[in-house]
Amino acid sequence: MQIKVKPAENLKQKPQDESKLGFGRLFTDHMLTVQYKAGIGWHNAEIRPYENFSLSPAALVFHYSQTIFEGLKAYRTPDGIKLFRPWDNFKRMNVSARRLCIPEIDEKFALDALVQLLRIEQDWVPHSEGTSLYIRPTIIATDPYLGVKAGEEYIFYIILSPVGAYYASGLEPVDIYVEDEYVRSVVGGMGFAKTGGNYAASLIAGELAHKMGYSQVLWLDGKERKYVEEVGSMNIFFKIRGELFTAPLEGTILAGITRDSVIRLAKEVFGVNVREERLAIADIFEEHEKGGLEEVFGTGTAAVISPVGGMKWEDKVIRINGGKMGELTRQLYDKLTGIQYGREEDIFGWTMTI
Ligand SMILES: *Cc1c(COP(=O)(O)O)cnc(C)c1O
Repeated sequence: MQIKVKPAENLKQKPQDESKLGFGRLFTDHMLTVQYKAGIGWHNAEIRPYENFSLSPAALVFHYSQTIFEGLKAYRTPDGIKLFRPWDNFKRMNVSARRLCIPEIDEKFALDALVQLLRIEQDWVPHSEGTSLYIRPTIIATDPYLGVKAGEEYIFYIILSPVGAYYASGLEPVDIYVEDEYVRSVVGGMGFAKTGGNYAASLIAGELAHKMGYSQVLWLDGKERKYVEEVGSMNIFFKIRGELFTAPLEGTILAGITRDSVIRLAKEVFGVNVREERLAIADIFEEHEKGGLEEVFGTGTAAVISPVGGMKWEDKVIRINGGKMGELTRQLYDKLTGIQYGREEDIFGWTMTI
C-alpha cells in the first residue's frame, strides 16, 4: 500500500523547555491514518496534518469500546533515532485485534509506515536525558450504528507525543495500593489485550488509591483476589531471596515487552533466576516480615522501570528496601535504558535505527 503524504502548512513550535514535557499532552505536526472497510480491507493510508477526527456520535467505539492501542518510544541516540522492539508492538496489536474482532493489520506495513512518519517528524524527538517521542498506534471502530456488533469500518492511526520522565517524581520509588475489592480482569476476559475497556474498569480503584496517597494500584487475580497480577500500566516483579518473581502469562495480564526484556536481562546478563509463577500477596507480606522481600519494581514502556518503595494491603503497610530503589532494579534500569539510548551494546538485537 502506498502512503500519500499531505504536509502540514503551518508547523507548531517545538517545546522550548524539555524539562516540562510531562506525558502525553503535546502532539507533533503529522499523524498516520489508514482506513478499513469490509470488502475493501485496509486502504487509503495517509500521513497528514495532526487534527481532530470527524466521527458520527453513533460510532461503535464510543458506545461499545471496540478499540485497541499500543505504546512504544523513539529515542534520540548518538547513532540516530532508535526504536525498541517495535515489531513486537505490532505483533501484540494483532493479538489484541483478534480478541476484539478487529481486522488485523499488516505488521510489516505498519512498521514501515511508522518509520516513514518518524522520518518526517524526527525533529520532534527530544534531546534531553530521559526524554523520548512516545508513539501511540490505535485502532477504532467507526461504523455509525447503535446495535452491538463488530464494526465493518475502522481507522488505524498513529500519533506522536514528545515526553519527559513518566512519573512527576522521576525515578523515585512509588507507593502502591493492593486492590482487594475491585478486579481488573479474569481468565477468559480481555486482560491480555491492550484495550480501553481494561482501563475504564480500573479507573475507580485508581481514584480511590490516589485519594489515600498511593500512585498506583496493584491488581490481584479476578477469581480469588489472592495472587498478584500487574500494576496500572505496568507488569510487576518481586525480588525474594535472590530470585525474581513475576505473574505468568495466563490471559489476565498484558504481555509487556519491557517485562520480557527484563526477564531476559535478569537471566542472561545478571544471572538471576526468574520465576514466572503465581505468587500470593499473603506470601509476599510474610516474606517481608521474615526479611526475604528485597526489591519490588514495575515495568512498562512509559515508565521503563519504576521502583516500588511501599505497599498497602488490607490494614498492613510495608516499606521495601527502606523505601529506596534496590540494586538489581538499578542495574536493570541502567542496562535497559543503556540499550535504548545507544550507550550499551544491543546484545539481543532489540533496537532498529530509522
Ligand atoms: C502497556 C501495558 C503494560 C506494559 O507493556 P510494555 O510492552 O512493557 O509497555 C503493562 N500492563 C498493561 C495493562 C499495559 O497496558
